[in-house]
Amino acid sequence: MNNRKTSQAAEPARDEARRGFLRKALAGVAGLSVASVAAAALRRSDRTTTVWQIDPQKCTQCGLCATECVLTPSAVKCVHAYDLCWYCDLCGGYHQSYTQEPDTAAEHQLCPTSAINRTYIENPFYKYDIDETKCIGCGLCVKGCTAFGNGSLFLQVRHDRCVNCNECAIARACPAAAFVRVPATSPYILKGKQGERQAGGDLQGGPPEGRTTNGAQTRAKAFVVPPSGGGGVQARKVESGDSA
Ligand code: SF4
Ligand code: SF4
Ligand code: SF4
Repeated sequence: MNNRKTSQAAEPARDEARRGFLRKALAGVAGLSVASVAAAALRRSDRTTTVWQIDPQKCTQCGLCATECVLTPSAVKCVHAYDLCWYCDLCGGYHQSYTQEPDTAAEHQLCPTSAINRTYIENPFYKYDIDETKCIGCGLCVKGCTAFGNGSLFLQVRHDRCVNCNECAIARACPAAAFVRVPATSPYILKGKQGERQAGGDLQGGPPEGRTTNGAQTRAKAFVVPPSGGGGVQARKVESGDSA
């Protein structure tokens, strides 16, 4: 009997303890939900204010940009800083390193998809334009241009294609940590004169010059003649409408 009385007396205390435990558990769940909602909102706001881009100074042209993107073909494309280009006849970004034949034969080209158009300008200079509709972002031309040229070709995430994944699949795989978040208002990391203007703060937004999409070519603003006989570098204008 005494035992039953003791047990009845303890019942309200146990109920209160259970209620306290439930209150704490619910408060914990609510706290977690608020934290997850806040984190998701932060991610959403980050996604609208920043985008993925490749830092061309860090990229080692490993080839993963062509294969890791969730899109096929990849959102990464080769772009050209024309003012850095030497307009070579035998081009490190266009021709296979083993060839001494500066022509357009398919077997002499580095690009696996023939995405680079070579155009005669004047002896001995040639202009190289990327057709982004064919480019798969493999970086072979960038590697060649970096090794044997002036590094005027480089890779960039094209924002008319990229879906700005929360976690970029290429960024996860990139061995050089070359993928970075940049402001959506200035979504490219450029080289050459455009890069200098960008660093100086007087160039924002806008894709790199000289891209070619849907076969429509844009012209180089200028081309640089490599120094001959120790002379200085000269800049030549290629006006729209010039025969190229
Ligand atoms: S994965 Fe990184 S290192 Fe490789 S090509 Fe792309 S940006 Fe360059
Ligand atoms: S080699 Fe061709 S496909 Fe590869 S990045 Fe250069 S232009 Fe694009
Ligand atoms: S964010 Fe997505 S779509 Fe854009 S480059 Fe990375 S994997 Fe491709």
